[in-house]
Amino acid sequence: MFKTLDSAVPVACWSCSIGHNDSTLFCPHCSKIQPPPGGDYFSVFGLKPRLELDLSALEQEFHRLSRKLHPDRFARALVNEKEWSLADTALLNDAYRTLKDPLRRTEYLLKLEGAEIGEEHSGKDRVDPSRVPADLLEEVFDLNMQLEEMRMARKIGDEDSALEASLAEAKEKFSGLLKAVDEDLRAEWRAWDEGNELARQASQKRMVALLDRRHYLSNLVRDVTETLGA
Ligand SMILES: [Zn+2]
Repeated sequence: MFKTLDSAVPVACWSCSIGHNDSTLFCPHCSKIQPPPGGDYFSVFGLKPRLELDLSALEQEFHRLSRKLHPDRFARALVNEKEWSLADTALLNDAYRTLKDPLRRTEYLLKLEGAEIGEEHSGKDRVDPSRVPADLLEEVFDLNMQLEEMRMARKIGDEDSALEASLAEAKEKFSGLLKAVDEDLRAEWRAWDEGNELARQASQKRMVALLDRRHYLSNLVRDVTETLGA
């Protein structure tokens, strides 16, 4: 299970000694800066893990906390407080960068939930043929043949406008499929946010599959774009 505000570890404030949960940058009692909290990125913003976020509220909170953490405010503070203002700022920046981006946010939340996703679990650069989505096998095979043909033609200085048009069409089609994946992901956000434990587990599985498909499709679109633009 993920850490939520409810289950966050209670710690005592270094300054006023009153206990608070380990997810806050500032003591709720004496307002003093705290060491980098051990909770997740959501808790930095006082949120529970969820996928549909109010991005303008997130941005406002980011700016508010950034201002409060600004090193100038700690010019006359204790050495520890100075160090924490830098460490907390770095954490806040990482958290904001991750949560404001829909894909990064989704991947982050799935990783919190223990899913195996991300670069270390998939083909890093080129399209990995072993992960071709089953419904696209034939089209991907054709596309790869055409890409190879195009590269050969380019190498010997040939112009093949029919092949070029066909590749441009394929690019359009796969870009469309990519958009469809993003819409499906958005639908899963709501399913996860509003679902019970069982619904969440099912939704997580679908999101992992959608992210794999997305990764595959975006590599494909990139390959076509590169070949056409070469
Ligand atoms: Zn305090």
